[in-house]
Amino acid sequence: MALDSLENAFYDELRDVLSAERQLIKALPKMAKKANSPELRKAFEVHLKETEKQEQRVEQAFADTGKAARAKTCEAMKGLLDEAEELLKEDAEPSVKDALMIAAAQKVEHYEIATYGTLCTWADLLGYDNAKRLLKENNAEEEATDQKLSKLAQSINAEALSPASA
Ligand code: FE
Ligand code: FE
Ligand code: FE
Repeated sequence: MALDSLENAFYDELRDVLSAERQLIKALPKMAKKANSPELRKAFEVHLKETEKQEQRVEQAFADTGKAARAKTCEAMKGLLDEAEELLKEDAEPSVKDALMIAAAQKVEHYEIATYGTLCTWADLLGYDNAKRLLKENNAEEEATDQKLSKLAQSINAEALSPASA
């Protein structure tokens, strides 16, 4: 597909975000499993459920605008998740590792928020009202997740600053 119109740019980005969500569906269970804090584990599990719904909303956005849902590898998400995976292998103080996992997860959420922000604007300009509504819903969940992680980081950072086991 030639990138000769904003419409094609929209689908290019939609394919990218579909790949990003699918990559996350694979990564979040691993992150949940490695989280030391039960609250952090729960947050990852809840976001996994949300992410599964987000994938469906993106597929619906394709359907609503008359296009077949196709993913195109999001290399940026691949890189962010490679970094997160490296981290999971590290031998670290539990609370320090949790603090680092939150940092990695927030990079992912911010990347998603940037992508959905653009997609919402373009859906609006193209008159794809239903797709815009679906993409806005996804964006709101990413923002809520980011805020939840910031809140969790307060106690986890405090614990990492002076670990109980040290
Ligand atoms: Fe997402
Ligand atoms: Fe991407
Ligand atoms: Fe997310």
